[in-house]
Amino acid sequence: MDEVSEGKIWELESKCPRCGASYKITEYLYHVPMDGRVIISSGECPSCGYKYRDIRAAESHGPQRLKLWVDGPEDLNAIVVRASTASIYIPELGVSIEPGPASQGFITTVEGILDRVSRVLTVLKDDEEVDRRAWESARKDLEDARKGRKSFTLILVDPEGVSRIVSDKAEKERMYSQ
Ligand SMILES: [Zn+2]
Repeated sequence: MDEVSEGKIWELESKCPRCGASYKITEYLYHVPMDGRVIISSGECPSCGYKYRDIRAAESHGPQRLKLWVDGPEDLNAIVVRASTASIYIPELGVSIEPGPASQGFITTVEGILDRVSRVLTVLKDDEEVDRRAWESARKDLEDARKGRKSFTLILVDPEGVSRIVSDKAEKERMYSQ
């Protein structure tokens, strides 16, 4: 089997979906410990600033559900590779992030995902449809989770099997379509 070394593998020219200018997408091969290789694509349009990110498996693992019980600072620092087609759930915090059509893959940490949730909460603050008490309680739970005072489960449901949670504690379940 050919061994491709990690790092930049190629560049491709693409058209910006926002303004139509041409821009470069760079693809990198990245090795996720214990889990094989993923290809990360990244590009930015020089004329309008549109950012493109995607992640896909160099080897596909099939549909899967990944689960991590987060109960300490080490877990908050675990690396999460989220494919553009994966959903994120944190039942204890009432979080459910479904992939939209414009959804992009990203690499972050568990804490980074909480930061994203926090940004969404901040946007919802002035929404009249949102119940104040529910909002305050969600805010408090999120703060506790970020400070390691509240344990929670991070679940990634990925139909393409591209996502990864880099932790010895992460559980992986294969899913089969009916
Ligand atoms: Zn553009």
